[in-house]
Amino acid sequence: MNDTFDLIVIGGGSGGVACARRAAHHGARVALIEAVRVGGTCVLRGCVPKKLLMYAAQIGDTLREAAGYGWQLPERASFDMAAWQAAKARELQRLEGIYRELLSTSGVTFIEGAARLDGPGCVQIGPRRLRAPHILLATGASPVRDSIPGIAGCPTSDELLDLEALPAQAAVVGAGYIAVEFASMLARLGVEVTLLYRDRLPLRGFDESLRTRAAEALEAAGVTLMPGLAPLSLTHDTSGRWSLQLPNGQALQRRWVLNATGRRPNSAGLGLDSVGIVADARHAVPVDARGHTQAAGVYAIGDLTARHNLTPVAIAEGRTLADALFADGDAALGLERVATAVFMLPPIASVGPTELQAIAQGHTLDVFEADFRPMRTAFVGGTERCYMKLLVDAADDRVLGLHMLGADAPEIVQSLAVALQAAATKADFDRTVAVHPTIAEEWVLMR
Ligand code: NDP
Repeated sequence: MNDTFDLIVIGGGSGGVACARRAAHHGARVALIEAVRVGGTCVLRGCVPKKLLMYAAQIGDTLREAAGYGWQLPERASFDMAAWQAAKARELQRLEGIYRELLSTSGVTFIEGAARLDGPGCVQIGPRRLRAPHILLATGASPVRDSIPGIAGCPTSDELLDLEALPAQAAVVGAGYIAVEFASMLARLGVEVTLLYRDRLPLRGFDESLRTRAAEALEAAGVTLMPGLAPLSLTHDTSGRWSLQLPNGQALQRRWVLNATGRRPNSAGLGLDSVGIVADARHAVPVDARGHTQAAGVYAIGDLTARHNLTPVAIAEGRTLADALFADGDAALGLERVATAVFMLPPIASVGPTELQAIAQGHTLDVFEADFRPMRTAFVGGTERCYMKLLVDAADDRVLGLHMLGADAPEIVQSLAVALQAAATKADFDRTVAVHPTIAEEWVLMR
């Protein structure tokens, strides 16, 4: 068996697979090594199953609203998590099959096993030793399980997505992407949710107006918010009940607690020291803008580097690296205007700096906002609103950023991100004729 390649990729998630396939397309002899299942966090434990659960929650909303639009439905509809779980397993198996097929048809050699670096140009998998002048580390990240004393035994999103039945009550600790998405979904699926976090608002890092409205939307969905009250420690009694000790001296008891306090790069056990790489304090592998590590011929992409922990970024990083190594591609990847979404209900999406970031960058801003009740609520009432904010550089009329909470925000902002990439001005937005009646038309009607 020939164990010498041009590129060895460790990690079969979105970034690793994208790099391996692109490199093979350029004619490189590529091996990809994966210890568990092909597909990585996004396909197996993240974006895909999360969105499939979000659809379940959204369908629940539609069922509740159906009568308002004239549908006669049976009195009680109920959600069967076990049925969802079976459908999810089938879908993930299908997607994993596609990933394996794509690797095989690209000519990438797939090797199952736990790999580690073993000196320059060498990778060890059990007794087997592979060699290559280029080695890519793309092992992703995993939930942090030791963020708070006593939290280690609590389920994370990994375990939540494998549940056969939902709990009646849940405490969710944290207020980042995962905490907010799952708090929102669980509440829509009938779980009584309490969200506990350190800051005064959820979603640190997002535009303040979105954070405020996200908190309002969560409350409207029935989530109890406990800002400034992330537990200091947790204990677990023999009856299976968790006790969360809060900073105000009180304790909160719950039978089920979701630990959503962040993710940690999977850098342990990779043999980094054998090539002189030192992980940083966050356990991330340090890289330059081209994905090069401290060791010649060793590269890292995706969540392992803890920069933009987003699937499309990892894929772009992987492909850019393959182009640079095997096709004289342009090694610089522009990541200034990466759009991002939080799949709560209704969802959030953003591209470009927040208002505070834009001001800190020295821009003088014209800020345009829209805040309205979406038409879909006309027959069903409720408190759902749609919010949009457009940040324009007053000096040259360029649109710097936009932020939205409302139905289909991720779909809408994805399209508008192209306009920002093309340096659109507010005048370009104003010149664009609306599609009516839509939510998105507000973007071109703001004055
Ligand atoms: P985040 O970093 O987004 O959020 C972590 C949360 O945990 C924050 O609210 C943080 O609070 C809190 N936290 C951390 N440590 C503690 C502690 N010791 N005590 C109390 N609270 C704590 O991580 P996630 O796990 O939600 O997501 C990881 C990454 O995965 C995201 O950053 C994102 O890049 C990606 N992701 C993207 C999604 C998408 O695109 N839709 C969906 C899910 C994940 P504080 O703010 O106070 O620091």
